[in-house]
Amino acid sequence: MPLERDFLLFMAGVYVHIPFCKQRCVYCDFYSTTDASLRATYVELLLAEARHRRCEVREAFTTLYLGGGTPSQLGIQLLPELVEGLRDALPLGGVEEFTVEVNPDDVTPQLANELAGLGVNRVSMGVQSMVDSELRLLRRRHDAQGAINAISSLRDQGIDNISLDLIYGIPLQTIDSWSHSVDQVIALRPQHISAYNLSYEPDTALWRMRERGEVQEVDEDTCVAMYRLLVAKLRQAGYQHYEISNFALPGYHSRHNSAYWDGTPYLGLGAAAHSYDGTVRRYNIADLRGYFHLIIDQNVAYQEEKLSWQERYDERVMLALRTARGLDTGAIHNQFGQDAYDRLMRQARPHILAGRLTASGGWLRLTPEAVMISDSIIRDLFF
Ligand code: SF4
Repeated sequence: MPLERDFLLFMAGVYVHIPFCKQRCVYCDFYSTTDASLRATYVELLLAEARHRRCEVREAFTTLYLGGGTPSQLGIQLLPELVEGLRDALPLGGVEEFTVEVNPDDVTPQLANELAGLGVNRVSMGVQSMVDSELRLLRRRHDAQGAINAISSLRDQGIDNISLDLIYGIPLQTIDSWSHSVDQVIALRPQHISAYNLSYEPDTALWRMRERGEVQEVDEDTCVAMYRLLVAKLRQAGYQHYEISNFALPGYHSRHNSAYWDGTPYLGLGAAAHSYDGTVRRYNIADLRGYFHLIIDQNVAYQEEKLSWQERYDERVMLALRTARGLDTGAIHNQFGQDAYDRLMRQARPHILAGRLTASGGWLRLTPEAVMISDSIIRDLFF
């Protein structure tokens, strides 16, 4: 099934990391803490960082994304303080897409009303599964009905651009239970769906559960079958498959994430956030108290790394080939030169001949069959 190319618009964005969760899900290795007492101080210092780093920004932003962690854990007191403070600190007048990640459990009618009042026009919700036993195993806080209620609260307040996350390959999940989750989610008709294969990250509770023999990994063939089923069902339901893990109704691709994939600069604020200005990547410290100290002492909390020519090339190839739009070989020529272009086309040739890549109109794209083995093809094209 081909990835679809009907999405465009790449722009600069702001990402704000909110590293608070009410409880930790077993599979998660994102940086967050369950210590709620630090939230108010965090918002205050994050706004100090925003004011200081305003000078890094050369143009107005068009997307704003509050991610985490769990931004909805800031609640109806701190969310307005954060958003109004960001509007004072940064040129956000041109923001067209304002996304907030929420946990279904946090979405009360009051929170939905507050989000709408703050100008949030897109909500991303970690639903993960519509089977309660799977949600319990992942140690999620909500159940399937909670997700349905949350969506309805958001829609009641006029927030009708909703993205839902799903996970496949959950221990004990079957093709049938996965099919049920996908069907239920389609019935909810969100504008956007992201689906990820569960991974076992070192130092997570899930990793330790596997070490102790309490859970077993779903085998690779079943995960592939789950992915194929997902793609088929979503296409049938009218969703465009615009990136390997992302699907959208026409016109509802994530503008913020599309900018990441296109190599567009973005500013990342808060503990563990990353920023990229086209050449230099900045990594904020992934430790709350360390972040507090650094912001108080120096107004910034990052280390920076200038990407080498080769790193920029490899990253461009990898991110672009994951998308339906594909890799613009003319841009590779302009940005990296004739030798890099010649080498790319030489490396791509066996894959084109084998039907794993197509080359047309100056774009290289994965063929439908190759999406499942994209990692190895992309690695072959690295410099
Ligand atoms: S998955 Fe989300 S809610 Fe769960 S611990 Fe990670 S950041 Fe928190």
